[in-house]
Amino acid sequence: MSHRAVGGTPPTIVDEPAIGGVLAARARPDAGRIRGILAKAREARGLEMPEVAELASVSDPELLGEVFAAAREVKERIYGRRLVIFAPLYISNLCANECLYCAFRVRNKAVRRRALTVPEIEREVRELVEQGHKRVLLVAGESYPQKGFDYVLEAIEAVYRSRSGRGEIRRVNVNVAPLTAEEFARLKSAKIGTYQLFQETYHRETYARVHLAGKKRDFDWRVTAMDRAMQAGIDDVGIGVLFGLCDWRFELLALMQHIRHLEREYGVGPHTISVPRLEPAVGSDMAASPPYPVSDVDFRKIVAILRLAVPYTGIIMSTRETAAIRRESFALGVSQISAGSRTNPGGYADGPAEEAGAAGGQFSLGDHRSLDEVIRDVAALGYIPSFCTACYRLGRTGGDFMDLARPGEIKEHCDPNALSTFTEYLLDYASPATREVGERLVTEALATMPESQRRASEAMIAKIKGGGRDVYC
Ligand code: SAM
Ligand code: SF4
Repeated sequence: MSHRAVGGTPPTIVDEPAIGGVLAARARPDAGRIRGILAKAREARGLEMPEVAELASVSDPELLGEVFAAAREVKERIYGRRLVIFAPLYISNLCANECLYCAFRVRNKAVRRRALTVPEIEREVRELVEQGHKRVLLVAGESYPQKGFDYVLEAIEAVYRSRSGRGEIRRVNVNVAPLTAEEFARLKSAKIGTYQLFQETYHRETYARVHLAGKKRDFDWRVTAMDRAMQAGIDDVGIGVLFGLCDWRFELLALMQHIRHLEREYGVGPHTISVPRLEPAVGSDMAASPPYPVSDVDFRKIVAILRLAVPYTGIIMSTRETAAIRRESFALGVSQISAGSRTNPGGYADGPAEEAGAAGGQFSLGDHRSLDEVIRDVAALGYIPSFCTACYRLGRTGGDFMDLARPGEIKEHCDPNALSTFTEYLLDYASPATREVGERLVTEALATMPESQRRASEAMIAKIKGGGRDVYC
């Protein structure tokens, strides 16, 4: 595989020859040097490309154990035991692109198509709210019915407007195709949380091979999307790679280049990184047998290395992965997870794609458990599920967020907010079994908190128990 840039665009974001050079220059991993890199990483100072490449080549079980241990340490220190919970909200599976790995690709006749109407979106949101969700990730294929991009804006409005009982969605993140600068400005006005977009593969040749038709063929339009988003004032952006399309080591280094580019140009890196692995999808041979399959061990390595390389960036893991892989990844670095997900538009009200009459889903899920089951499991493992949405509502985004995150001050907000939103969940939505596990966890977490945080948390929890809702600091 060549790492040479194809197409003539200046390699300002992804410099393939530089990545090729770093990968080629990589010596056999040396225990002394690896331990030096891990010592630096433990101080949460982040890592540079050659260091990432070196960690990526570790395979000796003892050294690998040390890489995982360092990642666990950094994760614990920066994020503590919090895990942010969200659900994807697929509003449409109409798509004009031909991405060979995706069930929504335009030439796939095996999938029933559907774009939800506003009342249908409201119905989906009520279902999610009744489960206890507070954050959604709005997802769509790249072909909007009638109104074009306004369809997405109307959907966002519908989500924020919907209510059920005492609950509502408080943060809408968005994963839709790259937009123009003007559209990004309108997306910002719609009060989104994070704009998320995965490059899929940063390797141009591979990119051209797997994207056969539609706007998505344009690598540069996609790789520059975050620049347009930042320029339009969206400073919380989420990037990612679809692992399985190309050599994961190449992707990891390219991801680092993208991160450094954003930091250099806008003074702030991505808010989150997603690590989807290619999953089977109806009507996709490529998804059934990925060209560069990523083993479970390598997948854990990817999460651990990212945690060490960019300690202050959230790492997201979806329900593409099984419960077992998800559990392991929490300790290694994952800070946000989806739960109870459906990837077919209308799936929360109608049932999963496999059920008669339901629209087609995007890919197979690895974790089919309900939100309540996931919460019980996460809590039993000692992680505090957080439904917090405070930061973006208080304007703690972009550089302001990073300034708080770097010295670790953000924990002062995150831990109390996690406990108050988790308490809200336990009171309003949890099954008796989950409530029991959860209440024990809250008591235990309070007991181990520093005094000032404990007092703040207790006051917030008391407000929730007294009937208040949406209490945050
Ligand atoms: N259509 C827009 C796009 O492609 O950017 C946004 C939403 S797309 C539905 C969300 C993501 O799903 C894609 O960026 C891709 O990484 C991921 N995806 C597609 N097919 C997949 C598969 N078979 N397994 C896992 N993830 C997949
Ligand atoms: Fe369409 Fe996105 Fe699927 Fe590609 S990944 S076919 S753009 S929905």
